[in-house]
Amino acid sequence: MLRQQMPEADSIYLDGFSPQVNPDLWNAYTIKAIARCCHRGTRLATWTIARAVRDDLAQCGFDVQKVPGVHPKRDNLQAVYNPRWEPRPVRGLLPDVSVAAPGSCLIIGAGLAGSACAASLARRGWQVTVLDAVSPAAGASGLPAGVFAPHVSPDDSMLSRLSRAGVRATMQVLQGMERNADWSDCGVLEHRVDATPGVPASWNDTAAHPGADWSRPATPAERERNGVPADAVACWHLRAGWVKPPALVDHQLRHANIRVKGQARVARLTRESGQWLALDAQGTPVARADMVIITAGYDSHALLQERWHLQALRGQISWGLHADVNTQAPWPEQPVNGHGNLVPQVPLEGGAGWVLGSTFERDVTALPPSANDRIAALGSNWDKLRDLVPPLATALHADFRIAEQADSVSTAQRSTVRSWSAVRCASHDRLPIVGPVDHRAAPGLWVCTAMGSRGLTLSALCGELLAARAHGEPLPLEARLAHALSSERL
Ligand SMILES: Cc1cc2nc3c(=O)[nH]c(=O)nc-3n(C[C@H](O)[C@H](O)[C@H](O)COP(=O)(O)OP(=O)(O)OC[C@H]3O[C@@H](n4cnc5c(N)ncnc54)[C@H](O)[C@@H]3O)c2cc1C
Repeated sequence: MLRQQMPEADSIYLDGFSPQVNPDLWNAYTIKAIARCCHRGTRLATWTIARAVRDDLAQCGFDVQKVPGVHPKRDNLQAVYNPRWEPRPVRGLLPDVSVAAPGSCLIIGAGLAGSACAASLARRGWQVTVLDAVSPAAGASGLPAGVFAPHVSPDDSMLSRLSRAGVRATMQVLQGMERNADWSDCGVLEHRVDATPGVPASWNDTAAHPGADWSRPATPAERERNGVPADAVACWHLRAGWVKPPALVDHQLRHANIRVKGQARVARLTRESGQWLALDAQGTPVARADMVIITAGYDSHALLQERWHLQALRGQISWGLHADVNTQAPWPEQPVNGHGNLVPQVPLEGGAGWVLGSTFERDVTALPPSANDRIAALGSNWDKLRDLVPPLATALHADFRIAEQADSVSTAQRSTVRSWSAVRCASHDRLPIVGPVDHRAAPGLWVCTAMGSRGLTLSALCGELLAARAHGEPLPLEARLAHALSSERL
């Protein structure tokens, strides 16, 4: 873990069980790994005075001394890292970009990314102002409901490992919200429509694999109750579920240190007397702060002066209320994802609702979509449903056909199958971009965007990663995974 995280420590406490009984916890290898995280002067303390621990610490460069113990111990150990050799600086995979102390921060865009950064910084004492061109969750994060779930791949790829760290962070935030009203960790069935197994084969052989608590092949009962054919390849994600993103945004913005300003479109940023100034289209200052974070979804591209390649991906979902469509429809119990996703049971507009998504329209930013594009999206979403949950697609076929016949936006909104659309933002490698824009040339300018189609899985983690880096804290995930999300990878 220490090698993966590479934190730099100012002080260390070695806790744990008795070195005599558990020598592995205290072996020279561990102490060497700890010393690699120290700078000259790092202080260390521990309750044990075991000879082997003292010797290993001394050999790794610590000046060790016994000090009077805390009852019931007669002695404790204290040490200072002060090797006879010049210690190598702790070099993580990412440069040190920490700031001296929390100050004021402007966040541009109040979606999942902006609200996650705001919450993470506000918790650490920053005074945060979130500016949004419209209002919170006005962009892609206005989605009525979406799925969060781990990603699986035969080789447990970078994205798979990132997704688990992301789900863990999302679920921590969700604990503060109303379960079953705004979110649920009911689990998600993944229908592998291409028939590839998904879950690495090695996970089936051992109980101790890293994904044991996360994903496994689905049982026949899980397939059956969710309308997935008995012979289909499917996996069951235990730590997964649905969320209403606007509720998550609202929850993250509720903090005494966060101020939200709507109708505040930022046209450009400039630096003046050590502070960042956000200007509107007329060049009038909207707000100023020590630090600024661009979290404006695809509009980040313009605010970043097209520094990196970002792609717009318009998405349309189809959604409605159970009571409005074929009442005999066999609704699955849990969300089903795979090629697209279905949230079959979610409270919406005072009734039971469903959300089915979604299209991926590359380089399209026009909103609302034209009548033709809306109709095409209904067809493509229905096709996805037919692949995911065939019996439900058959039952809803007539409802989708009627919705396609609505010839204007207003009749379409009264239809039993409604449409909702927004634009996602994706990077070239489909991973978020988190970190300083250019630490030297533009100190204090940060970015957190390109959540792609995984904002619910990755945004809370990205907010924590950004704040951890700004504070020089241990990273909330492996250094290699943090690097894969970082702006420095580009
Ligand atoms: C159809 C569809 C289905 C999806 N389904 C899922 C799903 O099931 N699971 C999942 O995890 N993700 C899903 N996503 C993706 C998810 O919605 C996004 O990843 C996430 O919402 C992105 O959040 P964001 O904060 O980066 O961007 P946004 O939510 O787009 O927020 C950007 C904000 O910035 C504001 N803004 C823009 N320009 C400016 C400016 N110049 N000045 C001030 N403010 C500005 C906007 O008003 C907006 O509020 C889906 C997306 C779509 C479109």
